[in-house]
Amino acid sequence: MISQESAANVSAKLEYPACPVCGSDRREFPFRLGHPYTIARCTACGFYYLYPRLIERAMQEAYRQPSYYEGGACGYADTSYTAQESALRATFKRFLHNLADRRLTGGTLLEVGCGYGYLLDEARPYFDHRVGTEFSVEGAEIARATGAEVFVGGIEQISAERKFDCILAVQVIEHVYQPSAFVKQLINHTQPRGHTIIATPDMGGVLRKAMGRHWPSFKIPEHVGYFDFRTLSRLMEKAGVSDVRQLPYPHAFPLGLITAKFGLNIPSALGCLKVWVPATTVAAYGRVSRD
Ligand SMILES: [Zn+2]
Repeated sequence: MISQESAANVSAKLEYPACPVCGSDRREFPFRLGHPYTIARCTACGFYYLYPRLIERAMQEAYRQPSYYEGGACGYADTSYTAQESALRATFKRFLHNLADRRLTGGTLLEVGCGYGYLLDEARPYFDHRVGTEFSVEGAEIARATGAEVFVGGIEQISAERKFDCILAVQVIEHVYQPSAFVKQLINHTQPRGHTIIATPDMGGVLRKAMGRHWPSFKIPEHVGYFDFRTLSRLMEKAGVSDVRQLPYPHAFPLGLITAKFGLNIPSALGCLKVWVPATTVAAYGRVSRD
């Protein structure tokens, strides 16, 4: 795990990137996190990004560790991923319902970064065929049990000729080192007139504004990019997605996770209660008009 490495070893693995969206070197530093990390804001395009960041190879190595999902400095800390299962499933169920309302479901689905496959499982009634990609071997194996076809790795594991009616990347793009190239890859695998849908922590949300540098989505070192609807929709449109619109994405959390963040203890029976938080995530969808 990265947290156990010496400071010298970590600094050898750091890079100081230009804006990952527009390539500008002009930046300001609105948030200083634990040394050496800061959140930079590109003064040319308004995108927020981690500066410096771990080189991508070092980050990829961390994702491949089975311990990533079990917590620790760069995993799903505070409570295990499995303990959050019921809240995540409720979140995905509501999200899929919102997609169906806008006629974005049906046909074939690709989910990039599917984790344990909770969304793929909840998507069963909405799609004829479900495919996922996941960097963790263990995660991919569990996701496969949902009956979906799951590849270990990123979207490059999907053969070039395969196209999907709907491509989803939920809580993924904040981990991506080259976001424009990533969205282009999503588009390349979307059917003409199909839809590309991206959801990510909302840098413009009231929760982030209220919490400042203590916002839980400032997850270091794995979250390297921070979008709001403006920067996300602009990125998608520039890559070739048309008619980009915002989707509601209410997120359920176990009450116990929220109270633990404030250092409070509550009876464990109450800890599993779900609390809906509306302003944590920004989601956008658009049509791929390429033919
Ligand atoms: Zn920029």
